[in-house]
Amino acid sequence: MGIGYADEDPVTDRRYEALWVRSGIAPGRGWPDFRRLNSRRQQRAMCYSLCQVCGETVLQARADERTLHLLGGAEPIAEGETTAAPPVHPLCGVEALENCPPLQRGWAAALVEYVPLWGVAGVVHDPVTLEPLPAPEGRPGELQHVYVGDKTIRWTLASFTVVSLHGVTPVSRDQLYEMAQEEAQRPPVGEQPSPV
Ligand SMILES: [Zn+2]
Repeated sequence: MGIGYADEDPVTDRRYEALWVRSGIAPGRGWPDFRRLNSRRQQRAMCYSLCQVCGETVLQARADERTLHLLGGAEPIAEGETTAAPPVHPLCGVEALENCPPLQRGWAAALVEYVPLWGVAGVVHDPVTLEPLPAPEGRPGELQHVYVGDKTIRWTLASFTVVSLHGVTPVSRDQLYEMAQEEAQRPPVGEQPSPV
């Protein structure tokens, strides 16, 4: 039991038992918009640890392999918090802070050690009326987060993959700008001096 498309494709329309919105990929188009990120681009970014701003990998950014996360809202990022926002590079994070209006109303950043799959973000539908249910209060612009083991996932029209954040170390504004400066001074990957 659950919601579905009349012409559902079991490969592309359903994942983790949720029904997925249908959307195309349009790389390089538009401004970073955390509330209206393209669904398929978001899923790729989560799967391959790609930066939500530039789309390149963030895994080579740090020797300790922690990833940087930047979320809207004034609350600090909590241990185990769930999010649909992919990681960012420090420089891209600073760029987003300066250009993304929702972040100007409040943000929090953290370095994170472990980012496992948690569930999906989407709109849950009432099993009786089939009407979309309102999302609970959370970070601004976030859809309802539904855990992969939760039965309501079959009543969810999913837009994004959701991960949980573990091993969280908060990053202040000064630290973020410091990290961005270090990143700007680092030679690009492949041009680093290698021992002979
Ligand atoms: Zn980036």
